[in-house]
Amino acid sequence: MLKPENWDTFKTTKTYRFKLSGHHEYHVWTKNERVVLRGKKRRQWYGLIKEIRVEAKEPQPQIWMLIQWFYSLDDISGPKFVSKDELILSDHYDIVEAETLESPICIFDFQEVSADQNPIPKGFWFVRWFMSVTDKKKAKIHRPYSPDTDIQRFCLGCKKWYDVECIRGREVQLPNEALSPPSTPPNPKICDPVLIQLLSKPVERGKAMGLVGNGKAVINARRIVREAAEGRTTDSEWRMEVMIFLSAVKTDCKGWLDRSFIYYNCPECNEYWL
Ligand SMILES: [Zn+2]
Repeated sequence: MLKPENWDTFKTTKTYRFKLSGHHEYHVWTKNERVVLRGKKRRQWYGLIKEIRVEAKEPQPQIWMLIQWFYSLDDISGPKFVSKDELILSDHYDIVEAETLESPICIFDFQEVSADQNPIPKGFWFVRWFMSVTDKKKAKIHRPYSPDTDIQRFCLGCKKWYDVECIRGREVQLPNEALSPPSTPPNPKICDPVLIQLLSKPVERGKAMGLVGNGKAVINARRIVREAAEGRTTDSEWRMEVMIFLSAVKTDCKGWLDRSFIYYNCPECNEYWL
């Protein structure tokens, strides 16, 4: 990493407000912000601001930033499970002049082991891994899930994702109780067809189901019904929660609610279907 002369004497600051050339608005750049930077031949690079330092200079101070780089599939000629929408945080750092910053950027954090995180809109960048480019032995790429080519199912028993390719041959009929809502007291009137349909859906991700999958909708639907069956909410609280929940997920479910699924027996905790 090349340091400007006297880098160690520059004053550190957490934020810096300035206007980029060609822009009308000011932006407050902050430490840990994810940003787009301009490279040669108008190529764009993605980075994380790790430090902002001010060099006292006349007539105006010069701003420098320590950037930690994200790598994309193009940069690493990557393994096939790296998605085209994916960035990988590296341990490659550079100090750049603030003028090379182009804009802030939204890069979503994807928690690969989670089943009920918020959806990540299609076509947006996401990050899930760190990769060492300085020491190959430290590379932390693991649990390869390729959202573009894999379909995975989540087991609510052992809380693990399984590749559909690996659980073929374990097909099961969906147990009857999964198709009918619980009827134990206080027996709230579960009448919304979308909520009932959600109860019988597996948690799936990858390919058409998208990077994050349908876990948030399915898991929340089951929780809401379970809590009602266990009498943990009053009837009116419950109705309100169902209403809010359904208005939030109905659009997300459109593509897969009427789809018929094949169900599998979990290879680890036999009694669960996925
Ligand atoms: Zn399981």
